[in-house]
Amino acid sequence: MTFTTRFAPSPTGPLHLGHAYSAMLAHDLAQRHGGTFLLRIEDIDQTRARPQWEAQIYDDLHWLGLDWPTPVMRQSDRMAAYGATLDRLWARGLLYPCTCSRRDIQEAMSAPQEGAPMFGPDGLVYPGTCRLRRDEEGYAPADHTRPVADTLRLDMHRAWQALGTDQLSFYEDGAGPAGETGRIDLSADQMQRDVGDVVLARKGMGTSYHLSVVVDDAAQGITHVVRGRDLFEATQIHVLLQHLLDVPVPRYHHHRLIRDDAGKRLAKRDDARAIAKYREDGLSPQQIRDMTGL
Ligand code: GLU
Repeated sequence: MTFTTRFAPSPTGPLHLGHAYSAMLAHDLAQRHGGTFLLRIEDIDQTRARPQWEAQIYDDLHWLGLDWPTPVMRQSDRMAAYGATLDRLWARGLLYPCTCSRRDIQEAMSAPQEGAPMFGPDGLVYPGTCRLRRDEEGYAPADHTRPVADTLRLDMHRAWQALGTDQLSFYEDGAGPAGETGRIDLSADQMQRDVGDVVLARKGMGTSYHLSVVVDDAAQGITHVVRGRDLFEATQIHVLLQHLLDVPVPRYHHHRLIRDDAGKRLAKRDDARAIAKYREDGLSPQQIRDMTGL
């Protein structure tokens, strides 16, 4: 069995203990399976990504004893691939432009007939305002060129219709937040209700986390995705997109999150836990391993 995995940090702050754990676990698993460990820089949010953080990522990971093939894939170099993928989905009528602000969505959700607001992997489940407008106006997006700078949403109902099934599944080798493991089943009904019309291209960005991660995992031939449990809920979106784009579905291994002594999830802004800080304090890579419980 081939085993290709990756660590995909965003260069928006220092690497902390949780990142180190994720990277070392993926690297260890690749070694154990005689496989390949790749690094990918997820810098689509150019307002937050900084070259200095990217340089620090390479430096910290090398210090931890990890290595990877070069050149490293950088998402900001991949906009043409994301655009081509959006074109394909657009041509099939599966995307629509959305002009709603966060506030519009909140207001629509708090209308009495809507019931309690639903939270999905991306926050509030979109109430479908712009989709309804499109349908009412008899607008046929496939007839027009894809608007490049707009927010584009996936029409979840049409997406499942296009697949011609109402059930999909993926394999979880780790565990989700409620211990979900093994074969994980996804259904059209549940995703329409709990996920809704997710954003696949953010306004002015030309892509989104979900779209980029799926396009790039496929382009890099990733067979095993190793990442934090906080991304378990997003996986259903990725699996749906993999089917829509006719690319292989990797196996997933969602791992526990490294928490601080108070049980709080470590965030990038907790600079006290930055690997660079531990290095400055004279800790060894082995001590970092021990701290993560690897
Ligand atoms: N870039 C994401 C992050 O830093 C990880 C994406 C993934 O592993 O799928 O949280």
